[in-house]
Parts: sequence; structure tokens; C-alpha cells
Amino acid sequence: MNGKKGLIMGLANKFSIAYGISESLKNQGADLIFTSQTDRFKDKISDIANEFGGYEVVLCDVSVDGSIELAFNKILNEVGQLDFIVHSIAFSDKNELTGKYYDTSKTNFLNAMAVSCYSFTEVCRYAKKLMQNGGSIVTLTYYGSEKVVPNYNVMALAKSALETSVKYLANDLGEFEIRVNAISAGPIKTLAASGVGEFSKILEIDRYRSPLNRNVTQKDIGDACVFLLSGLSAGMTGEIMHVDCGCSTIGVKF
Ligand code: NAD
Repeated sequence: MNGKKGLIMGLANKFSIAYGISESLKNQGADLIFTSQTDRFKDKISDIANEFGGYEVVLCDVSVDGSIELAFNKILNEVGQLDFIVHSIAFSDKNELTGKYYDTSKTNFLNAMAVSCYSFTEVCRYAKKLMQNGGSIVTLTYYGSEKVVPNYNVMALAKSALETSVKYLANDLGEFEIRVNAISAGPIKTLAASGVGEFSKILEIDRYRSPLNRNVTQKDIGDACVFLLSGLSAGMTGEIMHVDCGCSTIGVKF
């Protein structure tokens, strides 16, 4: 990744999947720019950005109309063209990531869809201007979109929609030599994940079901993401790549 420059959206702290991705990218020589959801997170993200080499942090709350376009224009003016973008953003009211799915409120349904799915569509729309020489864009999804995982509820629907949008966006952007893929990551204990009811049970069952007898790590996701963002995956687009220690391939395990 030497000489390649990219944007990381969704770094909150050292436990974030985006942190693992940034670390792997940095180890391979990439230059990084970060977004921060709010001013409140900006200092912490700046500290992490400094640890990775002192890169710029741009404000971008994807739930605010115009925020993505504004952030991307700022990046275009101050940094120039990008080679890759990582979208590692999702949100649902934590009270609705437990209990019955049918109790999901319309407000949270729409908000979860807007932040976790629609934001990726907007990212891809404005990315075109920032990737005039082509590029690679990756988002993060989860197996709960394919099969029922207790308590994942509305987030499962947002991830299904996100995965379908990956295919449509890959088709839209192919003519500009921009590739769009997703990583379906196994469960990792992060801030967002701890909002899902009984998450420690999900981790435990996953570990049991895995042919590798372990949970996935931040590094596993980070290294796979480097592959998708680099020329090594030049022939892949519209793909949902599972990085979950084989859990999604297992039906029954004795
Ligand atoms: P995290 O809490 O570290 O990251 C979530 C990020 O989303 C945070 O940086 C937060 O600021 C950002 N975000 C939320 N609302 C936003 C908004 N309105 N505007 C801008 N940013 C916003 O948790 P994580 O687990 O690293 O999550 C990253 C991605 O990985 C998410 O899409 C998540 O669904 C996905 N994922 C997580 C797991 C897991 O088990 N942790 C598994 C598969 C997929």
C-alpha cells in the first residue's frame, strides 16, 4: 500500500474494527485520513491518528444531511485524490437490540437504516469525485443479515440492505474503475457490539462453531481489508467476503 492514501470512517477507539484495519493498512505503508462523528470524539481520534503518523481528522456525522458531501469536499481541497475508503459505521438504539424484532419502532428502524445503510450509498456517490483514477471501497457487515442471530434485530435488516447496496454500487461504479466490497466480520467486542443483547453469548457460541476454534481478531479483519483495498483483489467487486473463522460455513457441529 506504499504511496496509497485512504479515508477511514468509523474509528471510535482502540477496540474499533476500524482501528484494526488502520493498523494493518499502516503496516503496509498506506497514508490515512480519519472522520470523527462529533467534536467530542475528535481529540481521542486525533491521538490515534497521531499514533498512526499524524493524519487529518475531518468531522462527519452521517445522520446530518450534507455532512458527507461537506467532509468529502474538504478532503478533496486539502488532501486531494484518494485510493480507498473504509466505511465502518452502524447505529441502532441499544434498547432495540434486545427482545423481539417486532417491537422495533419506526423511528429507530429509519434511523438505523439511514446511518448503517444509506450513508454508504452517499459515501459511494461522493467518492467518485475523490477517486478519479479508480479506487476501492469497503464496508462492514455481519452474518445476522443471512441467518437469525438473537437480539441483532433491526441491525440485521440494515445489514441485508447494505449488502444488496454493495452489489448495486459495484455495478454503478465499475465503469469508473472503483470497486465496492464488504467484509462480513465475525463478532468482536467493540463499543457498538456491546449494545447487542447477550453479546458475550454470541462470542462464546461463535468460538464453539468455528472450525478454527476461536473468534476472529481485529488483525484478521484488518489484513483481509488490506487485501480488498489493494491491487491483489483487482478482479473482485460486489463481493461479501466472510472473515469469521469459518462460522458462516458451519450448519451443525458435534
Ligand atoms: P465501533 O463502536 O467501534 O464503531 C462504530 C462507529 O460508527 C463509531 O466510530 C461511531 O462513531 C460510528 N457512527 C455511529 N453513528 C454515526 C454517525 N451518525 N455518523 C458517523 N459515524 C457514526 O464498533 P465496530 O464494531 O468497530 O463497528 C464498525 C462496523 O463493523 C459497524 O458497521 C458494525 O456493524 C460492523 N461489524 C461489527 C461486528 C462486531 O462484532 N463488532 C461484526 C460485524 C460487523
